[in-house]
Amino acid sequence: MLAIDSAISDAFSAAKRPEWKTNLKAVIAYRKALLVAQEHRCAYCARTIRDEVGHRELEHILPQSQCPAQDFDGGTAASNDWIHRRHTRGYGDFRYEPLNLALSCKRCNSYKGSFDPLLNRSVAIAAYPSASGDYLWVHPHFDPYSKHINILEGLLYSPVQGSQKGQAVIKVCGLDRAEEITARQVEACLTSTQELVQAMISLTISGEPLDSAEVGDALHKRFKVATSAKMKGFLDQLLANAGRGSDVLVASIKQISLEIGTGNPIVAPTVPAFVVKRGAAKKASVPAKTKKCPTKSVPAKAIDKTVVAKQNKSKPKRSAGSRRN
Ligand SMILES: [Zn+2]
Repeated sequence: MLAIDSAISDAFSAAKRPEWKTNLKAVIAYRKALLVAQEHRCAYCARTIRDEVGHRELEHILPQSQCPAQDFDGGTAASNDWIHRRHTRGYGDFRYEPLNLALSCKRCNSYKGSFDPLLNRSVAIAAYPSASGDYLWVHPHFDPYSKHINILEGLLYSPVQGSQKGQAVIKVCGLDRAEEITARQVEACLTSTQELVQAMISLTISGEPLDSAEVGDALHKRFKVATSAKMKGFLDQLLANAGRGSDVLVASIKQISLEIGTGNPIVAPTVPAFVVKRGAAKKASVPAKTKKCPTKSVPAKAIDKTVVAKQNKSKPKRSAGSRRN
């Protein structure tokens, strides 16, 4: 449940509709208040989000838009069956309702899409439903997250005592999908790590499968250095050398640091001998001078690496007729 200064909410509500833009003072103030109230975490996966465009989304809990007119069917939109819940009438009246907004990461927002979490869709509503029981969803303003979702080892999500609200968020946001676990792990590392070389070391010695082109592009965008292709090359070099002994790996890290132009002290040769094989790091701690990402290795049985490798490039897909909320 989010504690937000009522003056900020009121100013947000009072923002003139025709002039409503995301850069209005009142909108920015409310977004920042949400960020603080949510402790800089996504409302659904609870991972850290940065206050940057493209990294956090102003999420409409009840989707704001109706399905495309050519696909819309009133009966389906009034159905409470799970399979129909991406078919929605939309709730344009609550587009500017403060209680209908929360911040989410881009992945969760994309997965949720047009999913309609109103418990009873068979009756039209005039006022914004303001009780936890009105939703089959962990509503950030009405439900304590920890009462519904447990996060084990920072990665594995499970509903608390079979919470149906928690189960709904986990399922809809793809929090139980193996490829998502890895992808979110990489994202979390990129978000939390302040130093490029630290991020590269953490990612390459984690032993988890990664797509060097995708991660190289993310590193390039996150740290604004080199090019995506260059970063991919550095990652491939580190991945190849991670299995050739600590001396080789340290030399490789030094060379990359020089090429990137970071005078980063992390390149001090403290990578221990256990990092001789990718995967060995799973059982050991990260080097003392390496800031560890807030993620843990996934238990081997939790991820079918063959599947992950194949699916790593896949993006959240939306069902036909759905649109971004
Ligand atoms: Zn999220």
